[in-house]
Amino acid sequence: MTERRKLIAGNWKMNGLKADLGEVSAIAQLAAGRADVDVALFLPATLIAPAVEVAGTMPIGGQDCHQAESGAFTGSVSAAMLVDAGARGVIVGHSERRAYQHETSAAVAAKAATAHGHGLSVVLCIGETLETRAEGDAAAHQWVSAQLLDSLPESAAPAWLTIAYEPVWAIGTGKVATSPQIAAMHAALRATLVQALGADKGEAMRILYGGSVSGDNAADVLHAENVDGALVGGASLTAAKFGAIIAAA
Ligand code: PEP
Repeated sequence: MTERRKLIAGNWKMNGLKADLGEVSAIAQLAAGRADVDVALFLPATLIAPAVEVAGTMPIGGQDCHQAESGAFTGSVSAAMLVDAGARGVIVGHSERRAYQHETSAAVAAKAATAHGHGLSVVLCIGETLETRAEGDAAAHQWVSAQLLDSLPESAAPAWLTIAYEPVWAIGTGKVATSPQIAAMHAALRATLVQALGADKGEAMRILYGGSVSGDNAADVLHAENVDGALVGGASLTAAKFGAIIAAA
């Protein structure tokens, strides 16, 4: 069986000021104590450069980048800008951006390819709404697998790309998918990856779970089959809460 290192990734969303950098360095210290697990923080663009200064070896990433290299895209951040600020990774396709910024899967695939072109690691998010889940497990598996295929960049490879399955109904709601639900979805996504990329790449690509992961449920989530880590929102904002999840990995 392919060995995949677990990744515990924090997504601060639109939270965090320079006053919060103490939490970044405290999380980096916890990360340094877990040589067997990867830990990374995805921060607001304004915090990337100062966070890199206090994060030691823990990678800092951005939460989005534009698919274009540069140009007239007011308010957007390019992959080159993230690299310039010291970022080593980026999230693309988060459901909040798909919903509020109307990002399509084609745009997400283009963002991933551009980010990779600049040497960034990429966490690519996918996940179904409650409406789709209500159609049944098989329908949800099929829908998310199709979204994954539509969002995958052509050059997808496990060395730089990680998938994060985040059911939209579980993000920030306190509702966590059950371990059997998570395991079944991850098995379907694993099969999709193997079919799309071949056995070697498909088996080696990490699939994270995200959606209301906390210290209370992390052990169950992280030990479900085919779960290679977690993408954590609210519970990644403090070292106390995020540390409990890192400890459970
Ligand atoms: C997320 O934003 O990716 C996320 C999973 O958020 P939360 O952990 O707060 O549900």
